[in-house]
Amino acid sequence: MGKISINIATGSLQPKQTIVGIDLGTTNSLVAIIHPDSRQPIVLKEVDQTTLVPSIVHFGQEGQVSVGNEAKSFLVSDPERTVFSVKRLMGKSYADVEDASSFGYEVIDDGLENLVKIKVDDTFYTPIELSSFIHKSLKQRAEHLLKTPVTQAVITVPAYFNDTQRQATRDAGKLAGLDVLRIVNEPTAASLAYGIGLRPDEEKTIAVYDLGGGTFDISILQISGGVFEVLSTHGDTYLGGDDLDKAIVNSWQAEHALGARVSTDKAFGQSLRLLAEQAKKELSERDRFDTDFEGYKLRITREAFNGLAAPLIDKTIKACDMALRDAGLAPGAIDAVVMVGGSTRVPAVKEAVSRFFGKPVSDEVNPDEVVALGAAIQADILAGNNKDVLLLDITPLSLGIETMGGLMDVLIPRNAKIPTRAGRQYTTQKDGQSGMRISVFQGERDLVKDNRKLAEFNLAGIPGMPAGLPKVEVSFLINADGILVVKAKELRSGVEQSIEVKPQYGLTDAEVESMLLDSIQHAKDDMQTRALVEAQTEARQLIETTRSFLSKNGSMLDSSERAETEGAINGLESRLETATKDELQHAITHLNDISRPYAERVMDEAIRTAMKGRKI
Ligand code: AMP
Repeated sequence: MGKISINIATGSLQPKQTIVGIDLGTTNSLVAIIHPDSRQPIVLKEVDQTTLVPSIVHFGQEGQVSVGNEAKSFLVSDPERTVFSVKRLMGKSYADVEDASSFGYEVIDDGLENLVKIKVDDTFYTPIELSSFIHKSLKQRAEHLLKTPVTQAVITVPAYFNDTQRQATRDAGKLAGLDVLRIVNEPTAASLAYGIGLRPDEEKTIAVYDLGGGTFDISILQISGGVFEVLSTHGDTYLGGDDLDKAIVNSWQAEHALGARVSTDKAFGQSLRLLAEQAKKELSERDRFDTDFEGYKLRITREAFNGLAAPLIDKTIKACDMALRDAGLAPGAIDAVVMVGGSTRVPAVKEAVSRFFGKPVSDEVNPDEVVALGAAIQADILAGNNKDVLLLDITPLSLGIETMGGLMDVLIPRNAKIPTRAGRQYTTQKDGQSGMRISVFQGERDLVKDNRKLAEFNLAGIPGMPAGLPKVEVSFLINADGILVVKAKELRSGVEQSIEVKPQYGLTDAEVESMLLDSIQHAKDDMQTRALVEAQTEARQLIETTRSFLSKNGSMLDSSERAETEGAINGLESRLETATKDELQHAITHLNDISRPYAERVMDEAIRTAMKGRKI
């Protein structure tokens, strides 16, 4: 019997599993849900009211693992066992990691595997394992607060993450005991948190400006019919609020001649950094910051701070400009600018971004939480709780049928919005052909044998007609439930046949991803194979039509014409399987050249005969 859990905090029944939204950030991570009663997205807070879990993992000498604030306290005292910024290493090879020495811990290239590992004492950890510790901690936090097991999650990643990085993120969730229902782009989640893209009829182009502690991203998204498409991304993986803190520290250092002390006294330097961050945050609210620290009067005005921040802000605006250019858009084409990341609280940042795009920015949602909140909204949609939202989906893989030579003929391309329909006409290859086999495949490869077969049926009862005369319309319809209905109808006689399939059935996201990857890897081979198969098919058809022509009209050719044609046919036929595409095309042209003159003669004769019998 299934258990019904009760949320102690709210007293509400929770018959269904809550799917959490997780934003695993470079600096901080968060977990959010849709509140079962208010139906509003909320981030899960600890008793101390903190919502952010620093993305830091510490390994104690006895092997005990701590995550978050507890781990953060070891950054200075035990840097070799304290791992931060793991997100920067996800799915990366040693060669991808620009400067491994900038991490306080040891990044290892063991030469055996492509992906980096981190060595703590004598143990090697992959970034996936390290991230999984953070996921586990977020999962526990959620379970503790919700008083119910949490096993399903939606996890966000930067829009520029490649397949390996996305897979690594998924694996990290899995390792933490989470079933990762979907990997969502961070800008998409941010957009959802602002309610943008929730209506199926919505058409918008938006910019998501994300300035965090150590990274900057700008993404341009096009939203249409519930589908989010990333038009372009730009950014700097080493630019953020930390640079503002450093700029303040440098200005104080210069003013009070602190350079020597900072370079020798680590703790003093760390305290200065923390004070600089505090100053920066206060300057988001006030015009000046003043404090006394170990006898030094540390002060800064907002005006002076804006001067220090200007070069950094300029860099981000240049990236916005490049992202727009890549998307082929002018600033005026952007309908909304969504602000993400703690550093977008800096007034000078907001002003510069708003000036560049020529409109006020969207900043009402807490910029630290906006991505996690959006992930929770996506989770809720997947859970089917949000009945107002039509869960519009896209077909992850192309759908088509097998044509001559085992080629894939795509009717509905991948990423098509559903519901959708498509149709195409086909004809018979042989005179009097009474049936036609319709084989439905899914996948991106050019040959159906490399794709996944979904269904097959036979359209029978086509009335006897010469080859090429019947018109068989094959139509694909994917309805809102994701069911594919394939119909074949011979238009002249009205004979029809149809079949229903569920393309997604039994296919995991990972399998979809691997099928896509396959198609990219084989794209060049596939293109060549397709060209060869097409040439072979054309050659076979030409051989057949020329032979049937000879048998019907042989008497109208002289013996040398007949011998030459038969020689060309036999030559082409003998090399069908061995010749290259170019050789086949050459032989096809040759046979066509030989037969053209008498084919024209026969045609003229046929017309003359037809005219003779006609009375005007
Ligand atoms: P995130 O990576 O999104 O958590 O962003 C953290 C960054 O935002 C850090 O550099 C913080 O110092 C910065 N930040 C947080 N609050 C403020 C604020 N009120 N004003 C300026 N920067 C802030």
